[in-house]
Order: sequence, then C-alpha cells, then structure tokens
Amino acid sequence: MEYREFGKTGLWLSGLGFGMNRLPVGSLSDRKEMQNAIDLVEYAIKQGVNYIDVARNYSNGAAFEILRKVMERHAQDVHICIKVMPYHTDNTKEGALQSIKAQLRDLNLNNVDFCFAQAVKSYEEYRQLRRPGGIYDGFLEAQDQGLIRHLCLSSHATVEDTIRIMEEGAFEGMTISYHLLNAMQMQPILDRAAETNTGILTMNSLAGGLIPENPQLFQEENRMQLCQLALQYIYSHKEISCVLSGMQSVVEVDCNVNAIAQQNSVLQNRMSGIESQLFQKNDFCMACDYCKGCPKGIPIKSFLFSYNALLFDNRMYAGQYRREDENLLDDIRLTQEMMRNGIVFPIEGANPCIGCQSCERKCTQSLPIMARIQTIYQKINQRILESKRWEERMQEIFAERYQSIAFYPNCATVKKVMERSASLLRRRQYDIWIIDQNKNLWGNMVCHGIQATVVGVDAVEKLKPQCIVIAHYILGDLLYSNVKRYRQEGIDIKFIYDYNDVPVVYLGG
Ligand code: SF4
Ligand code: SF4
Repeated sequence: MEYREFGKTGLWLSGLGFGMNRLPVGSLSDRKEMQNAIDLVEYAIKQGVNYIDVARNYSNGAAFEILRKVMERHAQDVHICIKVMPYHTDNTKEGALQSIKAQLRDLNLNNVDFCFAQAVKSYEEYRQLRRPGGIYDGFLEAQDQGLIRHLCLSSHATVEDTIRIMEEGAFEGMTISYHLLNAMQMQPILDRAAETNTGILTMNSLAGGLIPENPQLFQEENRMQLCQLALQYIYSHKEISCVLSGMQSVVEVDCNVNAIAQQNSVLQNRMSGIESQLFQKNDFCMACDYCKGCPKGIPIKSFLFSYNALLFDNRMYAGQYRREDENLLDDIRLTQEMMRNGIVFPIEGANPCIGCQSCERKCTQSLPIMARIQTIYQKINQRILESKRWEERMQEIFAERYQSIAFYPNCATVKKVMERSASLLRRRQYDIWIIDQNKNLWGNMVCHGIQATVVGVDAVEKLKPQCIVIAHYILGDLLYSNVKRYRQEGIDIKFIYDYNDVPVVYLGG
C-alpha cells in the first residue's frame, strides 16, 4: 500500500480509503451481517487501509455500530472522521459541538483525527458555516477541547465555489467527487490544492456506477480491470492522498488494494490515452471553457458538460429510481448533472440563444453547442418540477382536511416543501411529523415558525397519521415496501412527485 501525506496535517493516508456507506447490512439487528461487515473492515485494515470514511447515516444507520467494534481493536491503526451536516436543523456552534460529542460517545472514543463539514453545496452554504456562532465555531471549540484534530469539508459545490472555499484556508482537507468522467473539469481544484497544500480525498470513483456500466467508452470489457483502471487513474494524480471506495466484499477489497499497489506499473501514456480517447471519440464536452463569453450569458460549459450525461447508457438507474422510461432516466441524470454543475433551477421559458455561433467557432471539440442547449431547454421545460407545482399538490392534500400529516422521508426535501407551503401549513395547524430512517441526524425541525417532529420509521404505527406525504422522488426498496404496508393499514398516501416529474435533485445528505 502506498501512503501520501494529507495536506498540512502531518498524517499519511493509505492510497485506498474505506468508505462505510455501502456495507452489505440490511438491519442492525442482523448479527451475522453486522459481524461480516466488521470482519470486512478489519480485513481491509490488515491490507494496509488506514483511513475510514464514515457518517452516522451510512449503511442504513449501521456504520457507527460497526466502526465502534472495529475501533475497539484498531484505534491505533486507522484514522477516522466524524461529520456534521450544514443541513442539520441546529446549525449553531452549540449544535455542532453537541453533534460531535454525541458521535464520539456513540463511537466510544475520546477524539478523532478528522471532523468534516459534510456535503457543502455552495460558497454561500460555506459562509453560513462560518458565520459567528455557526458550525465552524463549534468545530474550533471542539478542537480546543481536544475532541477533533483536523477540520475538513466534503464539497458538492461547483469547481469555482470549491476553489473559493479552499482559498480561504479554513479547512485542511477536502473530499471531492473525482473520477474518469469529470477529471478534466475538476483539474483546477487539484491545481489549487497543490498550491495551497490542501489535502484531497476523492469519492465517487466509479461515477455512481456509470464507468463499469459503459465499458465501451474505455476499450476495456473486463469489469474488474475497468474498476481498477478507474482507481489507478485517480491515484495517478499526486495531489490526491486517498481514494475512497465503498467496498462490499473481500474480492472488492483485494481488487482495489491491488489496483493501488500496481499503480506504478500502469503506464502513464495509457492514462493520457484514456483521456484523449474518452473525450475525443465520444463527443464529450471537456469543460475546457474555451467557449465562454456568450452574449446572452448562457453558462455554456456547465450546460454542455451536463449534457455529457445523455451520452451514457442510463438504464442502470431504472432499479434505483423504479422508473423504466429511458427518456425519464436520461432527464433525471441530466438534471442531477446540471445541479452538480451549479446551474440554478428552475431554468424555464424560452432558450435565450440567438444563434450567433461564437461558441461553436471556439469549441475545441467542434460540438453542436446550439443544438445541445436547445435540447436541454426542451427537456427541462417539459419535465422540471417547479415550486408552484409543489404548492398545487400541497393545496390538493390540504383540501382533504386531515388532522395529522407525516412527511416521508428525507428531511432536506421536506424542509423545502415546508418553506414553500409555510402559509398553508400555518393556517391549518397540523400535527406534523417527519419520518426519517435516521431521526438522530436531523433533530426536530422548525421551519418558518412551523414545528415538525422528526421520528423514526418505527414510530408510524404508534402515531397513526391520517396521511403520509411521500416527499422523495426515488422509491427505493425500503420506502416502496413501507408505503405499501402503510396503505394496507388505511393511511392515505400522497405523492409530492408525479410519475413523470424530473425533480430537482438535492445533492448530498
Ligand atoms: S450561439 Fe447561442 S449559446 Fe453560443 S454564444 Fe451565441 S448566443 Fe451564446
Ligand atoms: S469549448 Fe466545447 S468542449 Fe470546451 S467547454 Fe465549451 S463546449 Fe465544452
């Protein structure tokens, strides 16, 4: 295993880091699954992995319990982190400090090496963290008390915002989404990290599964070799200390450990070959930004880079979204990418392009920019769920005159729904509950003066709400089966999202 220094922290991290977000554990009470997961993490540690990335909600809420057991034997062998989400209801100094203490207590530890502000989505959100009396002050206080050593941030913000945050130097390290398909776009972050000596961890190595699902793009049909190649490509960038991978089996651990171990034998020219083949043969936008300067202010790079999502086979998401319509799946992916690339939603109305062709003349890949922008506008106008449609749906639900409403699940989305329907909710004075698998993560929520109580899934039977409003666009397996059961129990089920909606996808959390 190769180890690299992580920014200015003085700590050396293994090239491969264990992401505890995908452990094969269905429930905390399944002792066999829990023990297998503990064994798997310990196996990775024996192979030289010394960084473990965890958050309370990872692996169906089982990650902390597993890590607690692992740390009983390996506290000296590994560096771990805890995380605080800016979306957390209580985003104050005291709230952050409390959260840190509660996490340490649950892990049975006195301190940890890293504390992350989790899933920061914009520079504005970062400024919120740093406001006087905010989360960052809680981090500093926890540092003073010896609870955490190094302050880091995981960024889901645009390249520009991430660099801005980095340049302020408040965090010693960052986790960024980095993989073969966004490497070109993300390069400025790596360049700035090298200049500011900011440590970099990477997540999302396989681009959410797109890389192994589209082997034709890489001239590599063997799935395992392709995954190794994807890891090696990332780690070939010296600015990156540690590549996180959410491993589920010993075979995956071995595969990834070997990939890092064989790093130096992978020819550098193969790496640059991948870049040129991938981007030149497949009509991809490289995010080079040569096209900038649109007289109508269209952020062409962000639009065209997002359009790349339509060049992939997105059918792999059919199961995840429980949707089979390929156009819809493409549109969901496009919307996700646009969010990721900093495009503010909803964009709506007519395409402002006047066809001056200035961008197409400058494009290094000779892309049909104008046609792609037009396609994006058409798709978004057809599909995007606007806030007023949320309000319309909430009005329909309120017309039913329920006494109690529960929203299920995902507090980030519910918070938005509550913001947009605040006047309606206040007028009716409902008992409002939010059902979330991880009630500890969110705490109770007050939004525009409306109080909602966050409860676990197990509380539904006792509370017996008259109506459950499904606030998530992904009907994952657990949600799907629970909804079916609640309906059988006579609870009215309403949906914020219509079958054909492509909702704005809130990243992270
Ligand atoms: S062709 Fe359209 S998108 Fe391109 S620079 Fe002109 S107005 Fe902007
Ligand atoms: S010049 Fe072409 S490849 Fe470069 S960012 Fe613009 S659209 Fe993409």
